[in-house]
Amino acid sequence: MVKADPFDNATKQVNDACDVLGIKDKGMREYLAIPNRILRLKLPVKLDNGKIRIFIGFRCQHNNDRGPYKGGIRYFDPEGGVEYMEREVMALSSWMTWKCALVDVPFGGGKGGIYINPKKEKLSDGELERLTRRFAYQISEVIGPEKDIPAPDVYTTGREMTQIMDTFSKLQGNRYQPGVITGKPIPMGGSLARNVATGMGNAYCIREAAKVLKIKLKGAKVVLQGFGNASTFSGEYLEKMGAKVIAASDSKGSIIVPNGFKVKKLMDWKAKKGTVVGFPGSKKISTEQLLTTKCDILVPAALENQIDAKIAKKLQCKIIGEAANGPTLPEADPIIYKKKIMVIPDILANSGGVCISYLEWVQNNMGYYWNFNEVASKMEDHIIRGFKDTLAVSKKYKIDMRKAAMVVAVSRVVEAFNHKGIWP
Ligand code: NAD
Repeated sequence: MVKADPFDNATKQVNDACDVLGIKDKGMREYLAIPNRILRLKLPVKLDNGKIRIFIGFRCQHNNDRGPYKGGIRYFDPEGGVEYMEREVMALSSWMTWKCALVDVPFGGGKGGIYINPKKEKLSDGELERLTRRFAYQISEVIGPEKDIPAPDVYTTGREMTQIMDTFSKLQGNRYQPGVITGKPIPMGGSLARNVATGMGNAYCIREAAKVLKIKLKGAKVVLQGFGNASTFSGEYLEKMGAKVIAASDSKGSIIVPNGFKVKKLMDWKAKKGTVVGFPGSKKISTEQLLTTKCDILVPAALENQIDAKIAKKLQCKIIGEAANGPTLPEADPIIYKKKIMVIPDILANSGGVCISYLEWVQNNMGYYWNFNEVASKMEDHIIRGFKDTLAVSKKYKIDMRKAAMVVAVSRVVEAFNHKGIWP
């Protein structure tokens, strides 16, 4: 299958939002779509066996009209190779611009990474650290607490964030610079609540959607696709609100327990057995059965491209909280809209992470740290405003929530642009 060009998709979404907003000027559309700059880097690293290996890395900075660039660094080897990765980071940096604008955090969009799959390659810890520090060194001129603030992404963790922060700080004459990067471990200036942020934010959005649709969360049935970070915390926070998880899945299969189960119990099972399959009292079902189970809330939290037109026609849920990135194909959106299922689109549903990244940066810059509840409630404020603004635009223009979220985001960047203009 030929993969769609991700940057073409991102550009189409910008143009669709411009159509709704009545922005006809081609120059303005291009201004909004095209990244400000993209660095493509040659990264030489000395391997443990003494040989030199060249890696390719990227940092793409899409738009900084509302604040410094923000976005993850991934270590990844997409099927289409290095050229495809370049298009992918361009698209992902664009989506970060819109995600930050939508939840009104004062950042623009960035993305970057290195073309490598550390799981397959089995680089030693020393080789990986040298690669990470080399990358940090080569992007050091374009990043900084007031310029561009990276974060973890696919196959990068707090360990890489610490190494980048440390390299950057040393290059600034040993000035401690925790605000250059987020997603750090707590002792390195990370924020409380970051590990639960995505699931918690998704649950907050679902709670607001349930209020609008007048669905009682007490006893509401939840289906989780995937059973990792975003999924389990979505499930746990919905449980705290009174809902009942009845089905879940992972890469090895899907299960259902019609009367529901505690997320924690399934987590314990998965920790022991390595999969959700076989959970006592459960029945094994197919992926299609999982996604089309009759329920109130469906949380796709695994992979992209899960809900196509065929699945959309069979959906029996009332709310979809897209914790995963891109779980719904464009062909499914009109079908879902017609069925009056409320979709909380990925750029909103999984924006809890970027909200708490913002709060981590604020704490780093202040040198003063908040407790868990303070961080969580500030995040809630951002994400709920994002939800309400999206819903209002969806109603105003009679468009689905995905398009509405883009319209809110694009209009905010345009507003900032109009204040600044072009210089020189
Ligand atoms: P994770 O690795 O913790 O969990 C992924 C889960 O999906 C695992 O349980 C895995 O077994 C399961 N899975 C893999 N293939 C599957 C398949 N074919 N069918 C069903 N389940 C399958 O990852 P995560 O951090 O929870 O991320 C999940 C999604 O959420 C991704 O799309 C990610 O981009 C998105 N997301 C996550 C965060 C975050 O902070 N964790 C933030 C934004 C977006």
